[in-house]
Amino acid sequence: MNVVLVTGGTGLVGRGIQNVIENDKRENEKWIFVGSKDADLGDKESTRKLFEHHKPTHVIHLAAMVGGLFHNMSHNLDFLRNNIHMNDNVLHIAHENNIVKVVSCLSTCIFPDKISYPIDETMVHNGPPHSSNYGYSYAKRLIDIANRGYYDQHGRLYTSVIPCNVFGPHDNFHLNDSHVIPGLMRRLYDLCKDGNTEDKVFTVLGSGKPLRQFIYSIDLAKLIIWVLREYDSVEPIILSVDEAQEKSIAQVAETLAQTFNFKGKVVYDISAADGQFKKTASNAKLRKYLPDFQFTPFEQAIKETVDWYIKNYDQARN
Ligand code: NDP
Repeated sequence: MNVVLVTGGTGLVGRGIQNVIENDKRENEKWIFVGSKDADLGDKESTRKLFEHHKPTHVIHLAAMVGGLFHNMSHNLDFLRNNIHMNDNVLHIAHENNIVKVVSCLSTCIFPDKISYPIDETMVHNGPPHSSNYGYSYAKRLIDIANRGYYDQHGRLYTSVIPCNVFGPHDNFHLNDSHVIPGLMRRLYDLCKDGNTEDKVFTVLGSGKPLRQFIYSIDLAKLIIWVLREYDSVEPIILSVDEAQEKSIAQVAETLAQTFNFKGKVVYDISAADGQFKKTASNAKLRKYLPDFQFTPFEQAIKETVDWYIKNYDQARN
């Protein structure tokens, strides 16, 4: 029996995996989803107890301190230290417990700031990350270094995936500490909750021009499960929509405004930071393995997420 422990199982990506696995569980698999209430992965003893309790054979390591541009900019040291501690504890205790496979999560936003496009998996360490999120980036890059070390020294198959921006149900919709899509959704929700929106102004921070690739958490979940079951390499793999599916922040804002049926004005506050202009990633490696994988159309995924948010507003992370 394979016992799969999913850290960060209560978060955006973890809930996506829970959702997919409900209909895709294999007979020889037991899945366990844990959050910070089950163990503080920043603490070694707490992490050790979690592993002793569940006795996993496989780990999907999603737990992390995660935040949007503005939260990262003001807390780089916290992002660095918290993530280094969590990742080192999980990987080392996985090794001590003879875990067969660990799949950890990097992110396309940790790539070097000055880079040629499209970005691919070989470029993770090719230069400093963008100054806005160096703490998170260096902590994440060290996962790849550790994976290589566990392979070289101990023959372990600990690998990593590199998702682009994720969105979906169970995201963090906090006004200041969220990623762009849930942050904009939260503001639209507040603007639309009283009905009449014609006189209202929807302010989007930044110029609206930066380009991003967005993956629906359900699609990412299917791909991470595939990596766990089928992808047998220490080398990271980018899990992203195709390059042609890249969107500007303005396109995202317009799609969200339409989905919420917002009739007022959309305004761009250019005094706010834009972050990196683009970080276009190539999913060519993924496409070699899964040429026919169908990503959910962006508008449909946004609609499902907005519907979920409106229905679950009271329980959502606001
Ligand atoms: P969330 O913020 O939604 O969830 C974070 C998860 O980590 C939660 O389950 C949380 O538990 C858990 N966690 C945080 N701190 C601790 C701790 N000290 N001990 C134990 N558990 C902890 O994150 P996402 O689902 O968005 O991200 C999942 C992974 O994907 C992360 O590694 C992230 O870096 C990566 N990623 C995310 C992207 C995105 O756009 N969201 C893009 C690319 C990569 P609880 O909720 O119970 O407190």
